[in-house]
Amino acid sequence: KTKFFVAVMGAGSVGKSALTVQFTQGVFIDKYDPTVEDTYTKTFELDGEQVCIEVLDTAGSEVLVAMRELYMKNAEGFILVYSILVKSTFLEIKDIVEQLFRVKEEEEVPIVLVGNKIDLDAHREVPTNEGKQLANSYPNCDFWEASSKDRINVDNVFYSIVKRIKEK
Ligand code: GDP
Ligand code: MG
Repeated sequence: KTKFFVAVMGAGSVGKSALTVQFTQGVFIDKYDPTVEDTYTKTFELDGEQVCIEVLDTAGSEVLVAMRELYMKNAEGFILVYSILVKSTFLEIKDIVEQLFRVKEEEEVPIVLVGNKIDLDAHREVPTNEGKQLANSYPNCDFWEASSKDRINVDNVFYSIVKRIKEK
């Protein structure tokens, strides 16, 4: 297996698009249309193997709940992003995961939880430990704190989701 389908989800403004574009194109986009939902692909080497990842950068405000369910059904792995600066975005993760397990009807869904914007650590509202604990409460869930802006752990997030899908 060399092709992997991943969806990036999370509250508005947490940096889903910035993270996706930083990984796939290597640039930080400061202002990205919050309503745009798009797919990006990137081929890279992981553990000596060429893999192709297709990333759906979701826009969060699905008019139809059915649409969200559809891409939850289609994607094999999920990158769930919150901002370490905004507690409510962290709390929203639990609702997303709940819906995810309901839709997938599987006991194990590959997930990588991401606390983004660590370049602004001085304004942090969500302690690292809370993120870690939440990730540990789900099966097959990894955790990274990242900065889409400074490209901290961006590659690790995407490598990690591919590995989790592979090893599922
Ligand atoms: P989305 O709605 O989740 O797709 O969020 P965006 O990717 O559009 O980012 C929302 C805002 O946060 C934009 O102004 C970005 O420039 C900013 N942003 C995204 N990631 C980071 C980050 O890692 N650090 C900082 N300082 N700002 C970020
Ligand atoms: Mg976006």
